[in-house]
This record gives sequence, C-alpha cells and structure tokens, in this order.
Amino acid sequence: MRYFNTIVVGGGPSGITCSYHLKMNNIEHLIIEKGEMLQTWKYERWDSFYLVTPNWMTNLPGLNHEIPYNNEYMSKDEILRVFECYLNFVCPNYMENTNIGRISKCEEGYLLETDQGKFMAKHIIIATGMYNNPFFPGISEKIPKNIFQMHSSDYRNPDQLKPGNVVVVGSGWSGVQIALELRKLTGRDIYLSIGSMTPLPTVYRNVNGVYWLNRLSGFKKGKAILSYHLDDFKNDNIANKLNQNLKQCQMKGVQILGRMNDVEEEILIFSDSLLKSIEDADDYLDQVKIRIEEHIAKEKVEVSSGTLDHYNNRLDLDLLNRITELDLDRNKIGNIIWCTGFKRDYSWIDLPIFNEKGLPKVEDGESISENIYFCSLGLKVDNKLKSAFGVGLFAINESAERTVQMLLDNTMK
Ligand SMILES: Cc1cc2nc3c(=O)[nH]c(=O)nc-3n(C[C@H](O)[C@H](O)[C@H](O)COP(=O)(O)OP(=O)(O)OC[C@H]3O[C@@H](n4cnc5c(N)ncnc54)[C@H](O)[C@@H]3O)c2cc1C
Repeated sequence: MRYFNTIVVGGGPSGITCSYHLKMNNIEHLIIEKGEMLQTWKYERWDSFYLVTPNWMTNLPGLNHEIPYNNEYMSKDEILRVFECYLNFVCPNYMENTNIGRISKCEEGYLLETDQGKFMAKHIIIATGMYNNPFFPGISEKIPKNIFQMHSSDYRNPDQLKPGNVVVVGSGWSGVQIALELRKLTGRDIYLSIGSMTPLPTVYRNVNGVYWLNRLSGFKKGKAILSYHLDDFKNDNIANKLNQNLKQCQMKGVQILGRMNDVEEEILIFSDSLLKSIEDADDYLDQVKIRIEEHIAKEKVEVSSGTLDHYNNRLDLDLLNRITELDLDRNKIGNIIWCTGFKRDYSWIDLPIFNEKGLPKVEDGESISENIYFCSLGLKVDNKLKSAFGVGLFAINESAERTVQMLLDNTMK
C-alpha cells in the first residue's frame, strides 16, 4: 500500500495544471493516468486537427511566456508539443497505464484499488475531463454490417474510409471539421446530419466566442483579452479556422440533413424538422448574445463595440436539400462517422456523490463528499447555457487553482 497526501486522477492538461499548483504549495501528490500522460491529445485527435481556441486562450501557468499571445490557431502537433513542454516543466510524479478499479472511503481518507496495487490518499482530485467514453446513439446498432462505422475520436484521416460516400452525424466542431475535410480531400458525397444545435458566436465584440462561453460558465481569470483586428482576417490560419461552420459546409457542397432518427433495413431516416432546428439555433444564438451583453454590463468587462463580429453564418435555407430518407445502396453510402460526443464514466468511484444522471453533485467544484474534488467542473455554471464546452484550455488554470485552494482550505479546517 502506498500513501500520498493527494492523488490526482487523469494526466491531461487539467491534471498537470493541478500538479503545478500542488507543487507550488508543497503538497505531496501522485497523478494516476489510465493511458499515457496527455492521452487524449496524443491519440484522440485527427491528423489535420486544429484547436478551435486561438493561441492566447491556452493558459498554462508557469509556461505562458512560451505560448504565442496572438489570435492564430495551433495544429494538433503544435499543441501537443506545448503540452509536452508543460509536462516536462511541471515534472509531476505520475503513474501511467494504471486502471483504477474502485475508489472507496477508508478511515484515513480514500482507498484506490488499481491494477498496479493499492493506494491511499487523504484528498482525491478527479481530473478525468469531460470527454471520457465515445458516445454512439442506439440507432448505430441498427446500421447494416456492411457499412463502416467509427467515432470521431478514432478518425485520423480519409485513408481509413471504406469505398463509398459518407454520412457524418453531429454538427459540433468535430462534425463540421471532419465533413469539410472529407469533402475537400475525397470529393465524395458527404452528408452531415444535424440535431439540435447550441451554437456560439464565432466572434462577438471582436473576441473569440469560446472566451464568452468561459465567462458565462463562471470563469473570470486568465490572460488579458486579445481582440481580433481587421488584419487577422487576412491571415489564412485565422480566417480558415473561423470559417469552419455549417455555412462553409453548405458552400463546399456538404449536404445538410436533419437529425438521424432511425434506420429501416437499408434506409436511413432523418427528422423533417431541419428548418426548425436551424430556427431554434438562430434563436439560441440571439439568446447567447443577450446574455453576453448582460454579462459585459454586470461585470463591467472592457471590450470594444464589435465591428468585426463574425457570427452571422446563417445557412441559405433555399439551398437545403430537405430529404428525410437516404437509401444506403442507391446513394452508395459506405461509411458513417459518429461525431456525437462523449459520455462521462465515474462507475469506478464507489461513493454516494452522484445524481440520478450519474454526474457528480458538486458545489463550486467541491463534491459533497469530504476531500474529493472535480477539477474543471462545477464552478457557478450558468444552467441556461447548454453547450458542453463550458471549460477549455483557457479556464483550466482557474479551475485547478480553485481546486487546490479548496484542498488547502479543507486541510486548515
Ligand atoms: C475533439 C476535441 C477538441 C477539443 N478542442 C479544444 C480546443 O480547441 N480548445 C479548448 O480549449 N478545448 C478543446 N477541447 C476540450 C479539451 O478536451 C480540454 O480543453 C482539455 O483537454 C481538457 O483537459 P483535461 O485534462 O480536463 O481533459 P483531458 O484532456 O480529456 O484529459 C483527461 C485525462 O484523464 C484520463 N482519464 C480518464 N479517465 C480516467 C480514469 N478513470 N483513470 C485515470 N485516468 C483517466 C484520460 O486518459 C486523459 O488523459 C476539445 C475536446 C475534444 C474532445
């Protein structure tokens, strides 16, 4: 049995940033990672992946001077290099390829039973991220066996595809990036199925939309805001990334369909409420804008009037192909890529700290059980905000810092 004051579960950017703050406070700790450190960034992004947040929004305390303070975007290899540099800089004590079978309460704190032995810790920080297990909707099981299916987390490049056209399901950033890439590089017919959407303004008040999402999610700290300037839009690295949206899909010939509702033998069935989804998305966007305005007024955020706003990427409704059925054979569909997100899994935590949906009951990041914390979760989130992307690389530092502060406060008690 090995004992640590604190065990951090998960060796992604959040876990490493927690380690930074724990070290700053001389708290002995160990990170336990089920795969390799930075697993998701090494193995779960496609080859042509680019961050959707600009450089200035990556916020790694102690190493920020190495990250360009500009509005350009890092590729998968560039951001991985930054994270690896950060891992070397923080140099945490960690164990990789370690599966935690169970965390339970014991007299001294918590007992962790792993396939590498037992551990005990007074404090546990869960930093396993929001994107654990690839989610496939139930209808994926009804897809005929001859159709190749994969989740976006397994997608690397078009060489993986089997012959035939492609249906991409899900219109988040992953679905849009993958659909655009496939259309451009393969010239095949690409169908993009979209469900209910919770869009963000790409740029609002001259600032990246994800910044506003972080603010609305309760995160305040971070680097000083870097607004866009007119010249930014002449830079391909910036303009191309900001243009990764449904409008661009439409312009490049990706066929946009409603939500995939069912499969009947060889026929994919889509909802006929595509127009309604688009209308709802536009309404949602308007609501988000109102809330950003309220936030700016309430918090007295200093921003410009927003002449470069880049959010009005509304689809041309006349160009929509309103089909609700796709015959797999007749349309030569050979592939389906599910960009349908992830489910979180805490089944290995044997503690009564979860709600009926299996999500941790947290208040300001602190779980209802003593000395167990969920990093990157549960700051005072605006519940009306539906996006899953409440926390990103910009907010990780604030979340880690607050987590370690709570741990310190509890130690003092
Ligand atoms: C496709 C995609 C694109 C994204 N793009 C951006 C972007 O452009 N900008 C941005 O700010 N954010 C982006 N994000 C969100 C991004 O994942 C986070 O900002 C960042 O990676 C969060 O870091 P994290 O350490 O909290 O989570 P992760 O990076 O997911 O790390 C969690 C770690 O915990 C490990 N783990 C999970 N379960 C266990 C367990 N039971 N035991 C031990 N270890 C475990 C995992 O293997 C992983 O290494 C993106 C997410 C996805 C899925």
